[in-house]
Order: sequence, then C-alpha cells, then structure tokens
Amino acid sequence: MKDISSQPKLSPQRRKLLKTLGFSAGLLSINGCSGITKSLGSKNYNRPHSRGPFIAPRISKDKIVRVIVGLRPYRPSGFVVKLEEYDNKNIIHNYGHGGGGISLSWGSSALAVQEAVSLPVNNAAVIGSGIMGLTTARLLQDKGWNVTIYTRDLSRHSVSNVGAGQWAPTGVFEEGKATKAFEEQYKYAARISHHAYQNLSGANYGIRFVENYYLRNEISPPSYYLRELPELFSSIKDLEPHQHPFPVPYVKQTVTMMVEPATFLRKIRDDFLVTGGKFQIKNFTQLDEILSLKESTIFNCTGLGSKALFEDDDLRPAKGQLVLLPPDPSIDYLTVGGGSNVTYMFPRSGEILLGGSHQIDDWSRNPEKEVTERIIEDNKKIFDNLRI
Ligand SMILES: Cc1cc2nc3c(=O)[nH]c(=O)nc-3n(C[C@H](O)[C@H](O)[C@H](O)COP(=O)(O)OP(=O)(O)OC[C@H]3O[C@@H](n4cnc5c(N)ncnc54)[C@H](O)[C@@H]3O)c2cc1C
Repeated sequence: MKDISSQPKLSPQRRKLLKTLGFSAGLLSINGCSGITKSLGSKNYNRPHSRGPFIAPRISKDKIVRVIVGLRPYRPSGFVVKLEEYDNKNIIHNYGHGGGGISLSWGSSALAVQEAVSLPVNNAAVIGSGIMGLTTARLLQDKGWNVTIYTRDLSRHSVSNVGAGQWAPTGVFEEGKATKAFEEQYKYAARISHHAYQNLSGANYGIRFVENYYLRNEISPPSYYLRELPELFSSIKDLEPHQHPFPVPYVKQTVTMMVEPATFLRKIRDDFLVTGGKFQIKNFTQLDEILSLKESTIFNCTGLGSKALFEDDDLRPAKGQLVLLPPDPSIDYLTVGGGSNVTYMFPRSGEILLGGSHQIDDWSRNPEKEVTERIIEDNKKIFDNLRI
C-alpha cells in the first residue's frame, strides 16, 4: 500500500513541465511505472550511512535459490567459557553462543585464551572448526602457540557457515536465567569482539558497516544488547513515520557491521594455515577420546556437539531457517522484524538472505515448507509496501 498523502509536493513549474510531457500527478503514484515515474516519486529520506535512495528487494517465491537450516547452540543461562582440569589435561570450554556466536566470536575466544595464559605449554588442540574454533586458534597463534584443529567437519559445513552475519549479539541467553557475572562476561566479550571485527573491516574478511532498521508493529523494549551496549551501535535513533519508508509504526535505526560468514571463515582458515596451523578430521564420540589426545591443553569449541560430549543439559538446539534469493547490490540496508515471527532481510554479496525462525529443541535439519512460505510472505508485506 502506498502512502500517497506523503508524496512530495510538486512546484507549479514542475506541474506545468509534467503536463507538457503528458504526465499527471496521479500517474506519479502508480507503483512499478517507468523509471522516470519511479524516480520522480521516490522520497529523499535522510540516511545516516548510505547516500542512495531506499530500493525494495524483489521478494518472490519463484526467485528462491536455496533454503538452509542451522541449529544454534543455545543455552538460556549463557555461553560457557571455563577451564576444567582432568588428571593430566586441561580442557577450556568455549561453546553455547546461541544466535550471537558470529558477533561474540573474537571476544569469547579471547576469554578462553586468557584461561590458558598461566599454563606452562604452548601446544594446543582446538576441537571444532566453526567460528569459535577458528578464532580461538588464531588468537593462540598470535600468542605463539602451535595449534592443531581436530574437527568432525570443516568450517563450510558448520553452523557458523549458515549464520546470517549481522553484528548483533542477540539470542544468546534469556534475561533472568543468566547470572549477573555472566552478563558482565557477555558485555566484555561483545566489546572485545566488536573491536576485533572493526580492525578487520573490508571485503577480504567480508566485513562492512551497514544501516539496520528494526521494524515493530507494537511498542516493545529494545533488545538487551541495544540497551546495554549502545556505544557499539552508531546513529541509534527512533524514527518518526515520515522519516522512513517502512510500512510499520515503530522503526529504530542503527548502523552496525555485517559479517559474511563464508568469506570470513575462509579467510581466517587461510590465516590459520599460513601461520602453520594444522587440521585433522576426527569425530569424537566420548570424552575419553578427547582426553587421549597428545596435547595437554584442549579447547572445546564444538558448539552443539558439547551437549553429548560434556553432558550439558542446559545446551539446546534453536533451529533457524534461511531463504536465499539472488544477490542485489542495490540493496544497501538491512531490516529486522516487522513480520508475524522472526523476520529479517540481509543483503549479502552472494545473495539476499531472508530469515528466519527460532525453534527451540527442534533437532531436525530439514527446511520446512510452511516456514519458507511465512518468511516470503512476511518480507513481501514489508517490501511490496515500501513508501519509496
Ligand atoms: C539461521 C542462523 C542465523 C544466525 N545469525 C547470526 C547472526 O546474524 N549473527 C550472529 O552473531 N550469529 C548468528 N548465528 C549464530 C552463530 O551462527 C552461532 O552462534 C555460531 O556459529 C556458533 O559457532 P560455533 O563455532 O560455536 O559452532 P559451530 O559452527 O557449530 O562449530 C562447531 C564445530 O565443532 C565440530 N564438532 C562438533 N561436534 C564434534 C565432535 N563430536 N567431534 C569433532 N568435532 C565436532 C563441528 O564439526 C564444527 O566444526 C546464527 C545461526 C543460525 C543457525
């Protein structure tokens, strides 16, 4: 639905010119007309980052190129970073980051590496080659350690490679179920991680800053991370209806980073190999196999795999489904919310990504037709009605 009442007013001279050209003001409001019509009708919103106009991504079911699923390693009480001592081994855990592991990776891994500073060795085994395993391994290498990553799958098959990639440590814990000490640890990890990602910003690591728009149909308090870490998000502002094109009453704007997981994981894997790191493919079925590794310092970065290996009852899968459309370089903002369920639209270099879902305790890795349809419908409702 187009908001005709808020179209820009035309000057008398402009009206005369358009009449001469055979246009009427009525025609200007028709969606999908010629390029001239569209650009004359398009609004000049004041944008904090981009200098371009808002353009609507083309959402339709027949454009879907792929539907993917990942199981987030979710712990309502928050992720685990801690040292556990066994007879002659030290295991340092770094797992359970839910929907925010990409964002928190460098910071959480820095906390894990700090647990090992007093150990009198510099050979480490890292288990897992998702984002936690790779960032832990890289930080250990920075400190001069020799590192072997033991993993069931390489990173392109990990949950990390499915992650959407907004820098926003969200869906990591449930307020009221985490301790205050954990909340402090979370904030520390977020700050360190944000700093580390900023240092790597650029196409080779797949990191860039981009405008984010949070769309709400009802007033709701901002997420924990926006409330507690506002300094990590620039241009935070609640917008008035005339300041944005979205067909919802409440819109919050910020600028944050977008991390393209596939590019990022490939690059840090290469950095790891160039620095002398080694991979060994190995599936651990029980703790004893881990304790029989030759290294005495072992970092556990197995994500959801930790549930069985370390009998962690608090660790649960949170199934997430993403729908991918062909890339569209003209889309230079991302949206979160505005649908009937978890809904987002992230433009990545290789695709337009539409999310999503968050189904706790669902272990199935199969895409669900109804979820795909709902994701498409939710996003169509937003972008077919963009006031541009
Ligand atoms: C749909 C979706 C969207 C998301 N969007 C975002 C987002 O926008 N921003 C954000 O910050 N985060 C996001 N996330 C969350 C993020 O992807 C995860 O928190 C993060 O990838 C977890 O990383 P990890 O390294 O702990 O686990 P994983 O990536 O799962 O890696 C675990 C590794 O351990 C190995 N392993 C497991 N068990 C064993 C075993 N028994 N033996 C040997 N190896 C083993 C695996 O092979 C794998 O290499 C999203 C996740 C999903 C699913």
